[in-house]
Amino acid sequence: MSYTHLLVAVDLTEECDPVIKRAMAIAGPTGAKVSLVHIVEPMAMAFGGDVPMDLSQLQQQQFDQAKLRMSQVLDKYSAKTDATGSRPAIEPGDLHLVYGQPRQEIHELAKTEHCDLIVVGSHGRHGLALLLGSTANDVLHGAPCDVLAVRLKKDD
Ligand code: AMP
Repeated sequence: MSYTHLLVAVDLTEECDPVIKRAMAIAGPTGAKVSLVHIVEPMAMAFGGDVPMDLSQLQQQQFDQAKLRMSQVLDKYSAKTDATGSRPAIEPGDLHLVYGQPRQEIHELAKTEHCDLIVVGSHGRHGLALLLGSTANDVLHGAPCDVLAVRLKKDD
């Protein structure tokens, strides 16, 4: 059984390239659809709730920056073909930029978009970082479909 719709969670750093490429490689042979999602976490959440200042302007800047980065990613991956032949193209409508908490929003989007595989990057953390958890770990728990954690080699 092959996957029909892959949802790739991108943090919009340079590390999202291997994650997108792996998803493209899986989707390519079967013509599965590939969607990308980036979550902008509310700043008040990062500061733990009550913040005695107005963060709305900063939040807007963060959102605008993420939008710009998403469009750059789209430029890079929207071509129908690459050097090795055909590959799935990511269309503008396949990009999702949402506010919220990554795990919750990724699960929600996977359900509404009927995705059958979520693809995330994983640093293979150990020690204290493992105790604190990671987005990949978080996404795995309670996921509505299969989850592929693409090993990112940076921390090896
Ligand atoms: P982390 O555990 O935060 O180092 O991130 C590992 C992976 O989780 C990344 O490679 C992405 O696939 C995903 N991820 C992290 N942050 C976000 C975000 N804000 N939006 C979407 N995916 C994310």
